[in-house]
Amino acid sequence: DIRIDKLNKYFGEKHVLQDIDLEIKAGETFSIIGPSGTGKSVLLKHVVKLETPDSGEIYIDGNPIFNRIKNNSIRDYRYSMVFQSSALFNSLTVGENVGLWLREKRICKEVRIRQIITEKLEKVGLQDTENLRTSELSGGMKKRVAIARSLAMNPDLILYDEPTAELDPVTTDELANTILKLKETTKNTTVIVTHDLNFALYISDRIAMMHGGKIIEVGSPAQIKKSENPIVKGFIYTTT
Ligand code: ATP
Ligand code: MG
Repeated sequence: DIRIDKLNKYFGEKHVLQDIDLEIKAGETFSIIGPSGTGKSVLLKHVVKLETPDSGEIYIDGNPIFNRIKNNSIRDYRYSMVFQSSALFNSLTVGENVGLWLREKRICKEVRIRQIITEKLEKVGLQDTENLRTSELSGGMKKRVAIARSLAMNPDLILYDEPTAELDPVTTDELANTILKLKETTKNTTVIVTHDLNFALYISDRIAMMHGGKIIEVGSPAQIKKSENPIVKGFIYTTT
């Protein structure tokens, strides 16, 4: 599991993350919601060490990720981030995109890479698309190819930053169902940053609401819906 402990981050004078405490259980689908500019992406970046905190720590399976004593017996946890832009190579085929990192890092033999590509594309509902040009795909399909590429690395933890940002309502539903189906077939922990409250309510085990650099509420979708916190209530009212 992931434990975020009193995390603080400043950009200049700006206190972007303020004493963030959060626990995300292994295997959980956890969403972080909140309005624009509240620090959601910055928080996510800390989990994958793309940012370092000014104070505080993140423990993964009990091991600190920032202030580490040299200890080679600690296995590095594997994570994979699905970026908002999908970051696919349009000149490559779908299969080539999914196998890209495996081939680049020479993780396994070519025969196995081909198996993995087929397997992961099936997992996101894109069987028989391997030879399609990526440029020919819809936005929703591209997103699912990006997920398949992340899954190919067999991550313990998969993170999404605004997965529905460029998608229409129908494709958003498809993506939600893909993520729900993945939950049944993979055991990895999933952390999603989004300002799409309905999406978060639909797919999450638990949700944290961020506001002004702080976590103001954490709970199950049912608990979030019933929240008495005026800011949470306001957010639900304005986005549904
Ligand atoms: P959105 O929903 O628009 O993506 P967010 O909640 O993800 O918003 P963040 O991207 O986490 O917001 O940004 C939080 C604050 O930190 C913003 O005020 C942003 O301008 C600032 N910020 C983020 N990254 C940097 C950086 N590298 N340098 C300086 N300021 C930054
Ligand atoms: Mg963001």
